[in-house]
Amino acid sequence: MRKWIVAGNWKMHNTIGESVALARAIKEGLSGPTNGEVVVAPPFTALAAVGDTLKGSAVALAAQNMYCEDKGAFTGEISPVMLKDAGCAYVILGHSERRKYFSETDQSVNAKVKKALAAGLKPIVCVGETDEERVQGVTQSVVDRQVRGALAGIEKLDDVVIAYEPVWAIGTGKVATSAQAEEVHAFIRDLIGELYGSLSKGIRILYGGSVTKDNIAELAAMEDIDGALVGGASLKPDGFLGIVAKMT
Ligand code: PEP
Repeated sequence: MRKWIVAGNWKMHNTIGESVALARAIKEGLSGPTNGEVVVAPPFTALAAVGDTLKGSAVALAAQNMYCEDKGAFTGEISPVMLKDAGCAYVILGHSERRKYFSETDQSVNAKVKKALAAGLKPIVCVGETDEERVQGVTQSVVDRQVRGALAGIEKLDDVVIAYEPVWAIGTGKVATSAQAEEVHAFIRDLIGELYGSLSKGIRILYGGSVTKDNIAELAAMEDIDGALVGGASLKPDGFLGIVAKMT
């Protein structure tokens, strides 16, 4: 039985004070033990403060990106060691916004995945096709390339999470149907089975793209969907907690 994950990606939103308030509301709003994990990914500036706020709670901390070296002359970058120090358990890697605006490639994502695992961080690796690619009918080949690329040279999958995020569904309000999402999730699980054998049964594959408390239940009911990576709806306690409540 795979443990579900609901992870909130706060993107470039929230000051330190706003982040702490949101984290506190989420921590206090969670009811009882669950058979899943709740994760929040604040901006870098708020990581340590949110980490302190979440201490002793069931909510795990994630970063939204990292560099693929532990330290050195890399002005403006943040290392996996620094993220561990700030209290992170997870790191989101290869988000489509990073691929689009910051030229991330399958190779750079792969280098980061390796370094994250070496530092004891669990990578949430994002993959997904653009609108144009879906219309061209190349969704599977795009996702195949991204998954193979991100996992190249990685032997142990225990700490790896995949997030299937169709780019056309991110921040658009256009959610994939549960059938559309399940088709790609099953494809990813089969691909991982081809690469890693039975380890594919344990890997968590999250869906991301305009998830809300109104559509999560249908998505999460699908066999290969193990939770959600949530952007917009994670910025308000009610929206995020409403999604978590549907998972329990
Ligand atoms: C995301 O940015 O990972 C995301 C899924 O955003 P949204 O939920 O706003 O579509």
